[in-house]
Amino acid sequence: MFWNYNCPECHRPTSVDWTHREAEAVCRRCAKTHYPPTPHEDHYAYIDELKWPPELEEAVISLRGAICAVPGCYGEHTTLVFRTPPTEGGQTSVDNLVPVCARHAVSKGNRRWEEWIVEARQEMADQKRDAPKFEVTITRHDAKPETPAAEFAAPLPGLMLPLATMRTPRPPKTSGTGQPLAEIKLAVPFLRGPSSRITFNYDWKMLKSGKCQVFLLAWPRGDDPDISLLGGPKYPGFQIAKDHLGVKDEKGNNEMELRLPDSPGGRWTAAVAVLDQGCDFQLTEYALAATR
Ligand SMILES: [Zn+2]
Ligand SMILES: [Zn+2]
Repeated sequence: MFWNYNCPECHRPTSVDWTHREAEAVCRRCAKTHYPPTPHEDHYAYIDELKWPPELEEAVISLRGAICAVPGCYGEHTTLVFRTPPTEGGQTSVDNLVPVCARHAVSKGNRRWEEWIVEARQEMADQKRDAPKFEVTITRHDAKPETPAAEFAAPLPGLMLPLATMRTPRPPKTSGTGQPLAEIKLAVPFLRGPSSRITFNYDWKMLKSGKCQVFLLAWPRGDDPDISLLGGPKYPGFQIAKDHLGVKDEKGNNEMELRLPDSPGGRWTAAVAVLDQGCDFQLTEYALAATR
């Protein structure tokens, strides 16, 4: 298997054996020594086989993210597909490979990306129209129209990232011990871009005297954290919790902030969960924002 690229010295096509790509090479054209580019450095360099090595897949994922590249699909990538099929001259290069989910890999088949994406987009749009909507909204108890959270979000320094359409939360898993379980109140997959800080500002009210915990949590998009472990020492993800202890009809406002490390592709899902221990806790108004 050969790694084909343009010589950094004379800019003409040359190649090395893939297994020698990290060693110093001599150009076939100009005879100058150089180090071949890595897949990260040269997105047009290609190998002469249809099955890409893991190094190429890693470069594609770091460039395009680990989520299916079809707009509107948040499926985790399971494979790569060729933008231009090899039968039409497409190369096995970072530039010509795109991450997709299993379903879209099958649906694309051997078609050109540009030709197929029109159909895939339409299909996603039809699904979205038919599915129940889970827009992130500010719920108020008065008659004002609902406002998207992204517009309402408190102005924070730094870049405000767009909030995507909320996905249907999974039904809570039962603990089997009669213990109350945390319930996901909202979940937002962030569209793109690095976010290192998530803030949740909320007004709360409790209808009965008692206590509860509010959790702000985040996980790399595509992970599937076990929410039934929330509040315990075994919960593995990033979380911050706030305890509320109050009396009937007590109200208040609180802000929580979660700082995050780098995620692959900077993509996180953020969620808010409430573990209600009998106080009938209400989030009356809230804003969730992600910033750098
Ligand atoms: Zn050369
Ligand atoms: Zn997909």
